[in-house]
Amino acid sequence: MLTAGVDVGSLAAKAAILDSEVAVVVGGACVPTGSDPAASGSRALQEALAEADVSGEEIAAVVATGYGREILPGAHWRVTEISCAARGAHLLDPQVRTVIDIGGQDSKAIRVDADGFPADFALNDRCAAGTGRFLEVMSEALGVGVDELDDLALEAERPAIITRTCTVFAESEVVGLTARGVAPAEIAAGLCRATAARVAQLAGTLGVEPRVMLIGGVALNRAIGRYLSEALSVELAVPDGPQFVVATGAALIAAERQLAS
Ligand code: ADP
Repeated sequence: MLTAGVDVGSLAAKAAILDSEVAVVVGGACVPTGSDPAASGSRALQEALAEADVSGEEIAAVVATGYGREILPGAHWRVTEISCAARGAHLLDPQVRTVIDIGGQDSKAIRVDADGFPADFALNDRCAAGTGRFLEVMSEALGVGVDELDDLALEAERPAIITRTCTVFAESEVVGLTARGVAPAEIAAGLCRATAARVAQLAGTLGVEPRVMLIGGVALNRAIGRYLSEALSVELAVPDGPQFVVATGAALIAAERQLAS
């Protein structure tokens, strides 16, 4: 059976097509959410179908998740990101007991039970520190793309100390450090370490049980993974396509619910 999961996130809409018989993702797509989340989610789904080379009629069920899940047209069910993240991570690695998801505008730590269902979670959606948006603003202040920040950070011998976590003040701090001649690599490393520290604090409130999987778009930043692993004193598994894990979990839930109905 083929099913689809569409994760309409705050910054990016992701879709995954799952062949549930073999538990393999056969297509995926990611598009910026922009100002029309419903249209972006639909576009991500169309692009994922094209990548999988299947038509919409071949999809048995669609689950929508993410902050725009209520407005995605054509979804059979709407499920929280917490449940989808847990199911998606469990599909990729059944030994995972903690999922850390760093997205565009929030970060989450989720305890996952042995069957792949969420047992508990902690959420930061109040403050941009520890999210992708923070890193986007800071990369811009440094004059590099958000996808280049980790390469730059990993060149640093030691990270600069970033004392402010509020985005507005941290941006002024980056400008001030640059003006004092601190190397961009050290500032980039400092920003990645500060972000990781913030997420580690959140995960610490929940308790981090191994195995730990890091997902979400920010998991593509290898420096964050390294600093977070150091801060939590635990190994982090980062799957290929970490930004698609929630959409994959949504597609799995679509298959499970379709079979049960
Ligand atoms: P959401 O679901 O909230 O839209 P995502 O999980 O898609 O968020 O993550 C979006 C964030 O991922 C962006 O804000 C950006 O910081 C980060 N990101 C996306 N692509 C990359 C990349 N290639 N390298 C580093 N970070 C990235």
